[in-house]
Amino acid sequence: MPITAAANRLANLWDDSKADGMTEPEKLLYRSNLLGSDKRITNYGGGNTSAKVMERDPLTGAEVEVLWVKGSGGDVGSIKMDGFSTLYMDKLRALKGVYRGVAFEDEMVGYLPHCTFNLNPRAASIDTPLHAYVPKAHVDHMHPDAIIAIAASKNSKDLTATIFGNEIGWLPWKRPGYELGLWLGQYCAENPDAKGVVLESHGLFTWDDDAKVCYETTLHIITRAMEWFEAETRGKTVFGGARHESLGAADRRAVAAALMPAIRGMISRDHRMVGHFDDQPAVLEFVNAARMPELAALGTSCPDHFLRTKIRPLVVAFDPAQPDVATTLAGLADAVAAYRDDYTAYYTRCKHANSPALRDPNAVVYLAPGVGMITFAKDKATARISGEFYVNAINVMRGASTVSEYCGLPEQEAFDIEYWLLEEAKLQRMPKPKSLAGQIAFVTGGAGGIGSATAERFLREGACVMLADIDEAALAATSTNLISRFGRDVIRTARVDVTDEAAVIAAYAETAVEFGGVDLLVSNAGIASSAPIEETTLALWNRNMDILSTGYFLVSREAFKMLRAQGLGGSVVFIASKNGLAASPNAAAYCTAKAAEIHLARCLALEGAGAGIRVNVVNPDAVLRGSKIWSGDWLKERAAAYGKDTAELEEHYRQRSLLKRSVLPEDIAEATYFFASDLSAKSTGNILNVDAGNVQSFTR
Ligand code: NAD
Repeated sequence: MPITAAANRLANLWDDSKADGMTEPEKLLYRSNLLGSDKRITNYGGGNTSAKVMERDPLTGAEVEVLWVKGSGGDVGSIKMDGFSTLYMDKLRALKGVYRGVAFEDEMVGYLPHCTFNLNPRAASIDTPLHAYVPKAHVDHMHPDAIIAIAASKNSKDLTATIFGNEIGWLPWKRPGYELGLWLGQYCAENPDAKGVVLESHGLFTWDDDAKVCYETTLHIITRAMEWFEAETRGKTVFGGARHESLGAADRRAVAAALMPAIRGMISRDHRMVGHFDDQPAVLEFVNAARMPELAALGTSCPDHFLRTKIRPLVVAFDPAQPDVATTLAGLADAVAAYRDDYTAYYTRCKHANSPALRDPNAVVYLAPGVGMITFAKDKATARISGEFYVNAINVMRGASTVSEYCGLPEQEAFDIEYWLLEEAKLQRMPKPKSLAGQIAFVTGGAGGIGSATAERFLREGACVMLADIDEAALAATSTNLISRFGRDVIRTARVDVTDEAAVIAAYAETAVEFGGVDLLVSNAGIASSAPIEETTLALWNRNMDILSTGYFLVSREAFKMLRAQGLGGSVVFIASKNGLAASPNAAAYCTAKAAEIHLARCLALEGAGAGIRVNVVNPDAVLRGSKIWSGDWLKERAAAYGKDTAELEEHYRQRSLLKRSVLPEDIAEATYFFASDLSAKSTGNILNVDAGNVQSFTR
């Protein structure tokens, strides 16, 4: 929401009946969660909170002062008690004795573990000194858009004085670290009545000796800034006015669907990126604005913002008044290359002898006039959050450029944060990516037994999954179940009939807008039918052909188009059937359609190989558990065909198999994962039977 639209004031959520019985650390947790619950107060992962608390020393039994402060990583909105680090205040004060000056401030981080109280394993953050040396029991450090708009204005010191008088002070830009901690301590000593400070280009500090008052001060200061901006910008032209008009919502998504796989292909050479599209009003106002290119080029200001978004976005050449996606796509490669060159030049200009190596030089944020904002990152959550951060940056630019002149951070300062050795150390500590990280899977029949087991297998390996199915209720149930375990970011659903060409095309476009493209297709949507040939109606024959052959053709064709647009290769897996190889009585339509699938896969393996697109087949047999096919007529028909009771059928199939084992959806999912992943990087045109052994289906 633009900071000028402070329609709802920040609500004071403090509840005495809850807080009164809490210990000070519990109140700190309570306050942190309340603050983090409103993104106008602080952005995701941004800011930190602390309390200085008297505790009993576990070794000496003496009462000692302990700093509880949000530890490294995490988010104040969702932090739990174990997210705080705890440090002896007397030891933190003693660090002043070993400080060798600002040129050596980074080494102070190495001393923080020596100050740990009670063997708390939570690593202390770089911001710890910013809390330690403020001589107040409670300190909030927040990144509210309304305050950063002040902090990123050219005359931010004067603005701070105008808005807050003596209540809130101002400190010039200083990279967060030990020196800034000392500055804050000195500021407090010199201004004992101040309730906080605005840090230039960065954010807000507020403090008090009482937890509730500290919380209320933070709210009150941010609300004041929001109200001031609202009054000050009312009726004014923002961002130099609109130069472009937005396309309609459906057209915006259609353009994004065309752009995203192309961009993804260009920036995913080292690892596959996942995309996010945002066309909320605040974004459209900015991308359509006359001053957008100039402001975007200045770069984001708050360090939190550009660590996620890179300093500046790439502005895509697109004119919504004369929409011509083909021309935009034709110029994209040069624009992406120019961005990379620019970023590499920035690295070369600013690097120090000991700087970490150049990181991925591609843009994170792509702005398309009339369309919206696209962001790309190594996973969906990061892409979404990067977009959220750029919206924060837009809010900041909106406020600052309307009341003053917006200033990005000086290039060298930005570089020194981006390539800070301490940031690099954080990156190095990140866990190794999972085997399907960054991969996007389109799973037809994704709400069925085998489809949902496959989706789950892929999600466990870090993929994003589009569940495509005709059954809306089953889709809802499957996605609710998977979201509860893997989170909302990585799962999307599309209601699609795979025999409907337009619906299939639309479902791929949706996948492109939601995730950025596609890497893996699991063509699995299916039915089963049984009838002697004389009783096989044309309708039954066509239904099998439509879903199992034509449906597999349509989803493959659209997958191939997108895979080729990306140019990154990919993997297609057909879930066919033992019956595609082995003839079966009274199921001619099904068996023939499944055989067609297998031959289609071979043809596509041939066509795709040159583009690195692999196509393989998994043949299940008798997967009774979890399968909807086996809950309907097919179950009765098969039981009748073998002269069995339906309850005996699973045992019948087990005994019929060579290995005398039941085949489960998870077994099919495992084989599908094998073909989807690089484990089978050198296989295409293959068939893997997962049928517990059946001599009729031995391939030759
Ligand atoms: P299932 O019925 O549990 O799942 C199939 C899914 O496909 C369902 O969710 C259904 O809604 C969906 N679907 C059906 N028609 C569709 C359409 N026109 N468009 C989009 N979605 C559609 O069955 P399952 O056992 O998980 O079967 C998955 C695949 O495995 C099928 O292709 C099936 O032929 C094949 N197969 C299954 C077995 C088995 O024993 N279960 C054996 C051999 C092959």
